[in-house]
Amino acid sequence: MPELPEVETLCRQLRQVIIGATITKTRIIDAKLGTLKGIAGKTVSGINRHGKALAIELAENHSLVLHFRMTGRLLWQHNGDGLPPHTRLVISSHHGRLSLIDPRRFATVTVHKKRTDIPLGSDPLDDGNASHLGEMAQHSTLPIKSFLMDQRRIRGIGNIYACEILHQARMDPWRRVNTLSPDEWHEIAETTQQILTRAISCRGTSVSDWRDLFGKEGEYQGHLRVYSREGAACYRCGEEIKRKKLSGRGTYYCPTCQQCEGG
Ligand SMILES: [Zn+2]
Repeated sequence: MPELPEVETLCRQLRQVIIGATITKTRIIDAKLGTLKGIAGKTVSGINRHGKALAIELAENHSLVLHFRMTGRLLWQHNGDGLPPHTRLVISSHHGRLSLIDPRRFATVTVHKKRTDIPLGSDPLDDGNASHLGEMAQHSTLPIKSFLMDQRRIRGIGNIYACEILHQARMDPWRRVNTLSPDEWHEIAETTQQILTRAISCRGTSVSDWRDLFGKEGEYQGHLRVYSREGAACYRCGEEIKRKKLSGRGTYYCPTCQQCEGG
């Protein structure tokens, strides 16, 4: 599913093509999405990311907020191009046409009639996260991997990047968060920024159906160190990469680098 780097990629690419465009028409193809009343005729003033959600800011403080969930993504096309399979929603303008493509149909879109409230939870790309994370974790016994993926605390990290962050930081994914030292939080915060920033510069990870705004695959899958590498050798120490479930999610780790038996 799209995580922070994928949604940030969409934001950056959308800003290049849609800011200043006036929406001429909206067309809901999948009725499950509901309606988009009051959007046609409005001009796009900004694009913002809130964790894994994307907000299209419109005139008069209206906004459209998209959650991509499992398989949602956006595609920018010229007006008149054919609609791809699994298109659920089309937003047209004179600049071009934006489609929501989503085979599993879990993505949502909502119309807000005032500025989107900033949700709880910190953004991992913001500075000063290490002490904030440490404070939030003081009274929690969650495993660090579940903590990093808890959107109420930190917005935007999913399974792929959580595995990668913990491997680079040499941290056991099952480690209880109230046992981490300030230095370890500093390492986690710094590693998180490094990995997410690198993944954004690669336009995300295309291990399944992720494509960028223009339909091209991302490139971070070529840089993955543990995710989807079960049975292969760790690039750092040569040990075999393992996979075990943690809170229901396949968790990839190096037993040696991460000093970890797998829960
Ligand atoms: Zn290793």
